[in-house]
Amino acid sequence: MPSKLILLGTGGGRHTTMFQARSTGGFLLNARGSWVHVDPGPGALVNMMRIGYNLEGTNGIVISHCHPDHYSDAEVTIEGMSRGGWVKNGELYGAKSVLDGSGGLGPCISRYHQGLASERHLVKAGDRRSICGIPTEITGTDHSDPCNVGFRFDTGDGIVSYVSDTSYSEEIAGQHKGSRILLLPVTTPSGNRIKYHLCTDDAFDFVKIVRPELTVFVHMGIVMLRRDADAQAREVEEATGVRTVAGKDLMTLDLGEDVRIGSAPLRECSWNPAWNI
Ligand SMILES: [Zn+2]
Ligand SMILES: [Zn+2]
Repeated sequence: MPSKLILLGTGGGRHTTMFQARSTGGFLLNARGSWVHVDPGPGALVNMMRIGYNLEGTNGIVISHCHPDHYSDAEVTIEGMSRGGWVKNGELYGAKSVLDGSGGLGPCISRYHQGLASERHLVKAGDRRSICGIPTEITGTDHSDPCNVGFRFDTGDGIVSYVSDTSYSEEIAGQHKGSRILLLPVTTPSGNRIKYHLCTDDAFDFVKIVRPELTVFVHMGIVMLRRDADAQAREVEEATGVRTVAGKDLMTLDLGEDVRIGSAPLRECSWNPAWNI
């Protein structure tokens, strides 16, 4: 089976999050036999239930930084990973602000919930480590939570880069060279740059440096959504020659010979078999 991504949310920023104009649930990565949930913000639980995903199947939870669009469903997803808190299970990774607190931010995961995971690890830019058996490089960002990090997951079917919230620099983009899929947080459209975030103008430069097989816009803010995110992504594709799409909630990406884009099927049911505890 090729590695796979399920986008549980493609929104980001305060207004998209508070109105849930898009879900902000992060994504599930299935690679090397593990399921890893990255940045379970608001909407993660609802969307996992909509597709009948069993939280007990999660092997690890990764939280990039201490902003609520990246962590607010995390404690309950940890309860899911640990079978309702009955057994210590799974690996938990977070930046210092997430797990210990830093500079007035966090910790955003309670000590109790941190203790439900069988492993708890701080991550910082420059680290290399195995996350649930997936070799991973931790990358740097320039963000209002200075502890924030991005990730390069070596899935065995190519590298999946999750840039996480950041302003643009050549150095930050350069860390993601060689990735097959670039999950790029393009928060605002062209001409609307806000501090510590990427806009479409930055996406042109970012994609030109990384040149992945596929770029997916995620973490889209409310102005981006109103402006037509698909059109913004098309402009980046036309200018760079790199396949580029605006993510959709519950979009799936299969890393076969080509990257196949699909949609996770909804499971409308009155009883989810996962509830048979
Ligand atoms: Zn964010
Ligand atoms: Zn942030």
